[in-house]
Amino acid sequence: MQQPFRIIIAGGGTAGWMTAAAISSLYKDRSCFQITLIESEEIGSVGVGEATLPSIKSFNDQLGINEAEMMRRTQGTFKLGIQFTNWGKRGASYIHPFGVYGSLQNSSDFYQYWTQLSSKKAQADISKYSFAVQMAERNLFKFPTKNPENIESTASYAYHFDAALYAAYLRELSETAGVVRINGVIEAVNNDFDSGNITSLLLRSGQQLEGDFFIDCSGFRSLLLHKTLKAEFEDWSNWLLCDRAVALQSEQPYEIPPYTRSIAKEAGWQWRIPLQRRAGNGYVYCSHMISDEQAHESLQSELPGKALTEPRFIKFKAGRYKKSWQKNCVAIGLSSGFLEPLESTSIYLIHIGIVCLLRLFPIPQSGQKDYSNLSDEYNRLIDNEYERIRDFLILHYHLNDRTDSELWRHCRSMKVPESLTKKIDLFTRRGYSESFKYGLFSTPSWLAVFNGQGLSQKGVDPFVSALPLEYLESTLAEVSSLIEQGLVGASTHRQFVAQYCGIQI
Ligand SMILES: Cc1cc2nc3c(=O)[nH]c(=O)nc-3n(C[C@H](O)[C@H](O)[C@H](O)COP(=O)(O)OP(=O)(O)OC[C@H]3O[C@@H](n4cnc5c(N)ncnc54)[C@H](O)[C@@H]3O)c2cc1C
Repeated sequence: MQQPFRIIIAGGGTAGWMTAAAISSLYKDRSCFQITLIESEEIGSVGVGEATLPSIKSFNDQLGINEAEMMRRTQGTFKLGIQFTNWGKRGASYIHPFGVYGSLQNSSDFYQYWTQLSSKKAQADISKYSFAVQMAERNLFKFPTKNPENIESTASYAYHFDAALYAAYLRELSETAGVVRINGVIEAVNNDFDSGNITSLLLRSGQQLEGDFFIDCSGFRSLLLHKTLKAEFEDWSNWLLCDRAVALQSEQPYEIPPYTRSIAKEAGWQWRIPLQRRAGNGYVYCSHMISDEQAHESLQSELPGKALTEPRFIKFKAGRYKKSWQKNCVAIGLSSGFLEPLESTSIYLIHIGIVCLLRLFPIPQSGQKDYSNLSDEYNRLIDNEYERIRDFLILHYHLNDRTDSELWRHCRSMKVPESLTKKIDLFTRRGYSESFKYGLFSTPSWLAVFNGQGLSQKGVDPFVSALPLEYLESTLAEVSSLIEQGLVGASTHRQFVAQYCGIQI
């Protein structure tokens, strides 16, 4: 009888359990695919990572997860975007929404319409023409419709949830699907002398776990990819200077905003993530500019309610491993890199890592153990994602008029990656922003930050400047009126979550 293909997942945080749940749902026959996950209750998980991006919904849908049940089990709330306060300049605020500006019929040109009109006479801010922003600012929530004619189809949403509860939920699904979980500490990783492939993990208990394919989900420790296979780290901390965070949970005020908050501070920024019955908070800061105690004090002074937990300090370095799939091992999650949580991209990167891995999965058809062709393509796809996200994050720091602290002065004048310089130039010249079919971030996201942080375009797309002003004016007026009509009768976010999940909040 043929041996089953043995997949070993090292680590059981969000990355480990998302990976286990996804692989076990696609490869169901345990006599062919054996999946074992090792996690250590003693070590625990990073314990943060509660704001997501809209693609998480498709991940959950693929697993057949019932949304209301998942939200009930994880203290879930809806997220329509991120509100950035004091970014760009102190006192300013804007929302980076999920979804597009204008209606779906005119969304690709809408920003240009608005810019052209604004150059002729004063207009309301572009955010007035985003259904997602208008819902968010009024604390309302409604599901997007599928009908592209309807303005309500222009918004999209993600979730805030308790990361530990989400991992526990996925663990339940995975174990039901036959994933074997071992609680133990990995003490050594063995590899084959000739091929370099990993062969087994040795646990502190003395148990040896042999495998054919290994997935490193061990978090910042990167036990397999970095410590064993010596993957090279590409350090981006010269652009993304924050290297520490202090996190704690607090009471959540009565109203639950349907968006994450990011408040820029002297040495970094503070997050506020509203869950059903508590809030997640943290200060991400640059340790050269402020001490841990100062960061904690600053966080504590701006909590939305009473602190419920002790502060937790986390160190990190922005960057990623150049090749997150090497030999018979792929790293998913923090073990493959981390770019700081400003745009909630880590869980997204886990999801994309899983999707790419499954597309290129090394099915043992011929007993072939050379995976280099598969891994090259995987690494190319993941590289693209990381680099685009990196540029987008740097943009937030770079585009600022703040003079109040070293961090902001430094970031404004620093030399950014050439790829970002080009994006800024294209936008400034013509309001042009690169669009692509897959991956982050698409045009409306770039527009939100360019506009929200005060970068204006000098020229307008000539196809738009040739249009009669009356036409542009009537388009904007129509969108604005459709948005107002769409919001009539919408529930508050709090009411919506309570009703949808069938709970009292
Ligand atoms: C400050 C901060 C804020 C963040 N906010 C967000 C956010 O809002 N949105 C978002 O998408 N992402 C966010 N992230 C990232 C997010 O936390 C992670 O992407 C996510 O939690 C996945 O982590 P992980 O599973 O890779 O690692 P971890 O959660 O650290 O899990 C590692 C696992 O490996 C196990 N392990 C490690 N060593 C051993 C060993 N020797 N033996 C056995 N087991 C071992 C641990 O027990 C654990 O189970 C944030 C990260 C930080 C640092």
